[in-house]
Amino acid sequence: MNSAIRPSPGRSSLLATALGMLALTALAVQPAAAEERAKDLFGAEKLPTATAPQSFGFYSKGCFAGGVAIPMDGPTWQVMRPSRNRRWGHPAMIALIEKLSRDAVADGWPGLLIGDIAQPRGGPMTTGHASHQIGLDADIWLTPMPDRTMTRAQRENMSATLMVDEKTHLVKDALWTPQHTALLKRAASYPQVERILVNPGIKKKLCDTVKGDRSWLRKIRPFWGHDYHFHMRIGCQPGSPNCKAQETTPDDDGCGKPLAWWFTEEPWRPNKNPDAPKARDLMMMANLPKECRAVLDAPGPASAEAATYHSGAVPVAVAGPEPETPSQPATTASGGGDLPGAANAFAATPRMGAPVPRPRPPVN
Ligand SMILES: [Zn+2]
Repeated sequence: MNSAIRPSPGRSSLLATALGMLALTALAVQPAAAEERAKDLFGAEKLPTATAPQSFGFYSKGCFAGGVAIPMDGPTWQVMRPSRNRRWGHPAMIALIEKLSRDAVADGWPGLLIGDIAQPRGGPMTTGHASHQIGLDADIWLTPMPDRTMTRAQRENMSATLMVDEKTHLVKDALWTPQHTALLKRAASYPQVERILVNPGIKKKLCDTVKGDRSWLRKIRPFWGHDYHFHMRIGCQPGSPNCKAQETTPDDDGCGKPLAWWFTEEPWRPNKNPDAPKARDLMMMANLPKECRAVLDAPGPASAEAATYHSGAVPVAVAGPEPETPSQPATTASGGGDLPGAANAFAATPRMGAPVPRPRPPVN
């Protein structure tokens, strides 16, 4: 594992002394190596592992193997902020997003703008998001998809529509439509979806306006941010025995007291210590499930396109090398490969231009 220092045998005593010092240095370095910052390592991964899909740990403390990418474009979606390379997820998550996009269009929504899902191998992110670490979280914009294919630059730069007034924390009525409600209801209707995080103002709008079946409101959970997108979270998937489930949501619509709290002053008090490091800044490899080390070390597919999920037509992640041990990903070569370009015969070549990094509002 640690092959950084591999001295060849020396003859002179000077060299021997030097080697002895090197050995000591190596010993001293080892504990530090165990404290590598997880976000730096996971944030640097460009491709998923070419192993069976599996989530390790919890939504806010974990990683995943066998990720697949949602294509940059589908008939009913477009991926936003592509330079972030966060269009990766557990295949079940990607399949569900694609299904939601089709169902949403059938419901009258013009198509989905896809925000962050996860890094190729999950883990804590370099910026934004406490969760999104195990491939089971996805952000979807509350802005309808334009009726044209956006350019790469437009996807990087287009502003999202803030649905909530920052002062009153209420939804801007001029912007909210029955189609927004239908989209959230559709997302909540899937049994795999355990929670949908929205701004408290959006939750209140639903509480105030949804008639008839209100059972799905149980899954809609108020949270800071989430004023231009909603966050869809699915449960641990089969084949992931080390995925930690979240608590189930209470069995009521959540429109009572817990929601009222969000409309008090308390949740909006300024952070007394805004410069304090975030969890993602402190999370070391030792804090993640031990399998996450193997996830980092596992081989990757030949290209991002080779691990792109086309409505299940190309189950690529499992087409790569077999894991060396049945219980966890292989630990041979590190995942290399090219960025999209080697598009396969089944799919349109993704439009990959020069990345244009751009900060965006902090989100969860
Ligand atoms: Zn999110």
